[in-house]
Amino acid sequence: METTNIPDDLTPVIDFHGHLCPGLLIGYRAAKAAQGRLAGPRAEDEELVCVVENDSCSVDAVQFMTGCTFGKGNLIWRDHGKQVFTWLRRPDGAGVRLAYIGDLNRERLPDPAADRAARVERLLTAPDQELFEIGEPQTGLPAEARIHKTLACDRCGEGVMETRTIKDQGQTYCLPCASTLGLKVEPKIC
Ligand SMILES: [Zn+2]
Ligand SMILES: [Zn+2]
Repeated sequence: METTNIPDDLTPVIDFHGHLCPGLLIGYRAAKAAQGRLAGPRAEDEELVCVVENDSCSVDAVQFMTGCTFGKGNLIWRDHGKQVFTWLRRPDGAGVRLAYIGDLNRERLPDPAADRAARVERLLTAPDQELFEIGEPQTGLPAEARIHKTLACDRCGEGVMETRTIKDQGQTYCLPCASTLGLKVEPKIC
């Protein structure tokens, strides 16, 4: 895809994600806006937490740039299908919420390719306030990630975190096995 000027700090984000797309740029701009406001470095551990309300391309930029990652437990996914990102800092609870508004009231362009190029250009150059509604967090700090005991599932024998097991008639099952056996598996609440 033809693009204008790619900022230096965007190149490794594109490498990480695999391609340049409007979604990635939404996360890139959100991360930069949050970093500017929280004056925070990239999170090495859990000092910075990000709550994302979607699981699309944008979240890869969030993870790469702010160090809030799925594996470290300081990336919380809420399945709301919204391009909304909230960063919270652990020591003082300071935070910022960014809701993407860049596509609202956008005039449709006739050519999808031109539309995409125009979106990319706009996402690279528009000021933060045109892309995001920026406000206070509407969510508190989640509990710090804890290490849970691992149990063996009585059906498949695989190890499973205790908090994700289903007990039935003295047996302990992992969620896939519990589901296979027809046991009630509560949906994960977020
Ligand atoms: Zn993408
Ligand atoms: Zn199992």
